[in-house]
Amino acid sequence: MKKILAALLAGAMLASLAGCGSGGSDTLAQIKKDGKLVMATNAAFPPFEYIAGNEPAGVDVDIAAEIAKDLGVTLEVSDMDFNAIIPAVQAGKASLGAAGMTVTDERKQQIDFSDEYVKSAQYVIIMKGSGITADSLGEAGVIIGVQEGTTGDFYATDDIKGDPNTEEVARYKNAIVASQDLMNGKCSAVIIDEMPAKSIVAANPDKLELLPDVLTEESYAIAVKKGDTAFLEQVNKTIARLKSEGKIDEFLIQHTGE
Ligand code: GLN
Repeated sequence: MKKILAALLAGAMLASLAGCGSGGSDTLAQIKKDGKLVMATNAAFPPFEYIAGNEPAGVDVDIAAEIAKDLGVTLEVSDMDFNAIIPAVQAGKASLGAAGMTVTDERKQQIDFSDEYVKSAQYVIIMKGSGITADSLGEAGVIIGVQEGTTGDFYATDDIKGDPNTEEVARYKNAIVASQDLMNGKCSAVIIDEMPAKSIVAANPDKLELLPDVLTEESYAIAVKKGDTAFLEQVNKTIARLKSEGKIDEFLIQHTGE
């Protein structure tokens, strides 16, 4: 019995070792070899990621810089469409994805998530005085602007319109272009995460306003390649340190200009 157990244990250890080598779960080794950590993001999502001058900045950029610092390497930010982030992490083109990314069961099939670091929700931006309400969003002819492939897109498509083929959800590359179309009268509302929604309204206070309704409850986490436990532990270690030092709150305050 003992022998069988020992053999089983040895087998399991070998399998997990093999998993480390062949399953592509070698992000830490790659980061150390390259001397850099590559963060995939979509830098049009303030205050989490945006371009300041010519440089990417934001809460997620600061968090990724701390992960890189703890590993003794530099940070490189790779800006792409939101939809491209998970494939980039899966392909090992990026060490991690940090993009105000909501933890969802569907995404958990594709990548592993770190511990959660911020709570969020979907909010509705409308033109001031347009009379659009949360209840009217489902009505025929009401076009909802969203960022393609986000939880706002899923909520508008599945929960509000209730039709995966709806033509009444306008999908944009990011919330900033969606809100420009809102101001140009091409859509009636924009559904996007709480802090970007507030930041977009704050930048256009004469034209835009937020509805009081909170559509969802969500949490953000960092995406890493599936099965890459060693790297995931490292990411979680830095997140735990930042939380205990109150740094994430500090980053949020810094990048919302409050
Ligand atoms: N939190 C939303 C999502 O994960 C939007 C993220 C984003 O646009 N960067 O789908």
